[in-house]
Amino acid sequence: MAVDFTTYQSLQQELKSFDATLVAVSKTKSAADIQQLYNAGQRDFGENYVQELIDKEIALPKDIRWHFIGHLQRNKVKQIIPIVHLIHGVDSLRLLSEINKQASIANRTVSVLLQLHIATEETKFGMDNEEFTETLLAVQKKEFLNVAIQGLMGMASFTSNMQLITEEFQHLHGYFLSMRKELPTADILSMGMSADYKIALNCGSTLIRIGSALFGDRIKS
Ligand SMILES: *Cc1c(COP(=O)(O)O)cnc(C)c1O
Repeated sequence: MAVDFTTYQSLQQELKSFDATLVAVSKTKSAADIQQLYNAGQRDFGENYVQELIDKEIALPKDIRWHFIGHLQRNKVKQIIPIVHLIHGVDSLRLLSEINKQASIANRTVSVLLQLHIATEETKFGMDNEEFTETLLAVQKKEFLNVAIQGLMGMASFTSNMQLITEEFQHLHGYFLSMRKELPTADILSMGMSADYKIALNCGSTLIRIGSALFGDRIKS
């Protein structure tokens, strides 16, 4: 299925009033599909798998900003350090520490978001309150000089219960506001996907990650 340009234009229009950014989630989609959206002006793309990101980065224009939005394994961090613009899913102190280590070796500073577990579902990744507090303390002690914490990321429960989704996003927004008191430079709140981005924007999201609404449904493997 081709790119849905009508949805793309209306999304961009909608985002203006919220001053929010669109990341086009291109996992499993071809380089040709990404190139089409690039030609329409899109520069931020999100990928979930390390090898797929590496292959696409080689094949596509160099001014694309690649967002790694999937669950990142520590043994794969090194491979994405040179090409990634923002790592969204930092869901443990150990992962943050590995990113810092590899970024230091590569002599760069890598931008990251801490992923918090906000969903009622157990299946989603993310730090709990305790690990989040511990991580912020370590950051304040300047233990991670090669990472820049830019904000937070979270995923709501997979449900049609709008009230529940709203509560989960409000919860994350609350964390975001209190984090900004300590870390005023952290100004990204990555929340909202195709099914729930409108709720997310109304709850204070500054960045939405949209896949299927732009590229069509992914083939289930
Ligand atoms: C796949 C994915 C998205 C996009 O989901 P859609 O429902 O296709 O918009 C957003 N965020 C993450 C973390 C994803 O894995």
